[in-house]
Amino acid sequence: MSLGEFDIIARYFANRGARRDVLLGIGDDAAVLEVQHDRKLVVAMDTVVDGVHFPVGTGAADVGYRALAVNLSDLAAMGAQPAWMTLSLSLPTADERWLEGFAAGLFEIADRFGVALVGGDTVKGPLVITIQVAGWVEPDRWLTRSGAQPGDLVFVSGIVGEAAAGLAVIQQQLADTSATTVLRERFLRPEPRVTLGRSLRTVASAAMDVSDGLLTDLGKLCAASGCGARVDVDRLPPSAAMAQMFAADICVDYALAGGDDYEILFTIAPQYAARVARDLNAICACTQIGVITSQRGVECWQGRQLYSVKHTGYDHFSAAVAPGIAPSSVATQ
Ligand code: ADP
Ligand code: MG
Repeated sequence: MSLGEFDIIARYFANRGARRDVLLGIGDDAAVLEVQHDRKLVVAMDTVVDGVHFPVGTGAADVGYRALAVNLSDLAAMGAQPAWMTLSLSLPTADERWLEGFAAGLFEIADRFGVALVGGDTVKGPLVITIQVAGWVEPDRWLTRSGAQPGDLVFVSGIVGEAAAGLAVIQQQLADTSATTVLRERFLRPEPRVTLGRSLRTVASAAMDVSDGLLTDLGKLCAASGCGARVDVDRLPPSAAMAQMFAADICVDYALAGGDDYEILFTIAPQYAARVARDLNAICACTQIGVITSQRGVECWQGRQLYSVKHTGYDHFSAAVAPGIAPSSVATQ
C-alpha cells in the first residue's frame, strides 16, 4: 500500500464525529465507552464482501453508506438507540479516491444517526468490510423475534421488493428513468428504521428487519415465536416504481421474496393495533399485511386462493426484467 495503515486511519477515520460517552476513541489499544447504569448494551455485526453482498464496481460512497445502514437496521429491529461502531476494513490497495468516497458515505449516515467510530482494524486483502455497531436500550423491554402470539396483526414498514428490483436494475445496467433511479437507490441506500424501532419497543410483540425477503424472514419470526402466519397478498404496500417496470405478479413476487429492503416486520396485538398503527404511520408508512396463526408455517392468500411465489430466486426475477441476461447473483445479508 502506498498509504500505510496509520496514514489511512489518521486521514480518513480518526477524529470524525464526537460523543461525550466516548472516553477514549481511536488511537489506543482499545476504546473505552461510558454506558449508563440503567441501560442495556445492544451489539450487532454484519460483514459485506465485494461481489457477494454488493456488485463489483459499486461506488465507494454507497459501499460505506450501505455497510453501516444494514448494521443500524439490526439495532432498529431490537428497538435500540445506536451510539458507537467499530470498523474492520480489508482493502486490496490503498486507493485514496476509494477511501475518500467510502469515508464520505460512511460518515454521512453515521452523523445522521449520531454514531461515533471508536476503533477498528485495517488490513490488506480482498475488499471486505465488517462493521460492529453498539447501542443501548432501556432495561424494561427490547424487541425480539419470539414474542408473536396467534391473532396478532403482522405489519411491515415502507415498501418491500424494491431493493431486489434495484439490484437487478444495477446488474443489468438498465438506463436511468425515474423508476430505475428509485429502485437502484433503494438497494444502495437502505433507510434503517431506527426511529420506528424505538417506538415499537413498547407496543410490538415481535420484530425483525427484512434482509432475506419478507416470507423468509416472517418464517424466521414465526419459528422463533412458535406460531405461523397468513399473509394477504392484496395488502402488500404497492410500489409505483416497480409497477412502472413489471407485471403485477412479478411485483408481488419481488415483495414476497426479494431481499435487502431493511424494512421492519413487526406484530401487534389486535386490540390496540389500529391506534398504534396511526401513531406509527406518523414516523413512516406501516402496512398491515397479515395475521399470526397458531398453525405453523407461512401461507399467502390472494382473496380466497392460496398464493405461491412463482418467481423466486434471483435468476427468475432477472429473466422477468430482461430475458436472456444472466447476471451473477448477489447474496443478501
Ligand atoms: P493494534 O495493533 O493495537 O490492534 P492498530 O494499530 O491496529 O492497533 O490500530 C490503531 C488504532 O486505530 C486503534 O485504536 C484501532 O482501533 C484504530 N483503527 C484501526 N483501523 C481502523 C479503522 N479501519 N477504523 C477505525 N479505527 C481503526
Ligand atoms: Mg490492528
